Amino acid sequence: MQCFVEADLSAWTTLGVPARAKELLVLEDETDLARWFERRESAPMPELVLGGGSNVVFLEDFAGRVVRLAIRGRELLGEEGGARFVRAAAGEPWDGFVRWCVTQGWGGLENLAAIPGSVGAVPVQNVGAYGLEVSERIAWVEGMDRDTGQTWRFSGNECGFGYRTSRFKAAEASSRVITAVVFRLAGDEPPRLEYPDLQRWFGGRAQRVSPADVYAAVREIRARKLPDPRVQGNVGSFFKNPLVSPEVAERLAAIHPDLPRHPQPDGRVKLAAGWMIERCGLKGVREGGAMVHERQALVLCNAGGATGADFLALARRVRETVAERFGVRLEVEPVLVGREGVVQRLT
Ligand SMILES: Cc1cc2nc3c(=O)[nH]c(=O)nc-3n(C[C@H](O)[C@H](O)[C@H](O)COP(=O)(O)OP(=O)(O)OC[C@H]3O[C@@H](n4cnc5c(N)ncnc54)[C@H](O)[C@@H]3O)c2cc1C
Repeated sequence: MQCFVEADLSAWTTLGVPARAKELLVLEDETDLARWFERRESAPMPELVLGGGSNVVFLEDFAGRVVRLAIRGRELLGEEGGARFVRAAAGEPWDGFVRWCVTQGWGGLENLAAIPGSVGAVPVQNVGAYGLEVSERIAWVEGMDRDTGQTWRFSGNECGFGYRTSRFKAAEASSRVITAVVFRLAGDEPPRLEYPDLQRWFGGRAQRVSPADVYAAVREIRARKLPDPRVQGNVGSFFKNPLVSPEVAERLAAIHPDLPRHPQPDGRVKLAAGWMIERCGLKGVREGGAMVHERQALVLCNAGGATGADFLALARRVRETVAERFGVRLEVEPVLVGREGVVQRLT
């Protein structure tokens, strides 16, 4: 276990804003969990579990302990009814794990290629991209309660998955630490190619497309569309796509006929937050060093020297402008962390 005191967190998140934690622990193997627990008892303070830091915004210094789960390991647990059950420890880098599965010939996760971060975080906001949500592939999630030390296991159905949310993202989750995720990869499912970008990419060749082809295509498409956080700090989408009632969607469509609208299985309609932000003329708009990306309106990026306060100011400005123009309230996607811990809402 590595331990840093008064730790600079800027290199531990993809946004790269300056913030300090009283303490940063990096857990590298299972035995480090027990060491962490001893430390919790001898020096209690607020805590935050961190993976790759690609969905976290530190708004200011954090008066507590950041615990980075870097425990690695991946294995095939077994096969049942043609499906493979594959287990990965929380600290496995997500994209490396997806690539490894594809290389073994186990399709199922390839649409989620190149999402930054660690395996342990993917259930937290039920990551999704290119027509797939990870909840569709999760058999169960393993973890422990850091207050009691009790281990637990939730089946996919018990995880409370929804659009960019789960029981782990909710406030009650603060004491739950995910230590591993088990994926169920069906052997016989055809590649998922409905997403418009993938349809365009593969054209009429769907019959001959392998998981490795989809993995490579998604990586390539993402590299063209999204800013690389190593070059320009960001957390991917800063806002969720809003879900509204069909009546609200109809009313908006009457005024903005080209507003993208995606009906959902539960009857609600998903609107494109990026489209609305762009229509408000916000691309390239700045607050201090934080900027609405010039090509991807849904991404707020660190244009140089940005602070958490800059991102807060910019997020508020975007939200207010969109609410004024469209009457729709955008919800922030990443986890906002203040001095005492997670901030539940953008006020
Ligand atoms: C360029 C870019 C593109 C992105 N594209 C997408 C995308 O297409 N789809 C998408 O859904 N997301 C996307 N994201 C967001 C992000 O990559 C994902 O949410 C990712 O799963 C976060 O992983 P992480 O390990 O970095 O989590 P972190 O940012 O470290 O943590 C996120 C949250 O999960 C909690 N957490 C992390 N690990 C654990 C654990 N082991 N146990 C309990 N809680 C834990 C943290 O406390 C925090 O609340 C993107 C981000 C970037 C920078």
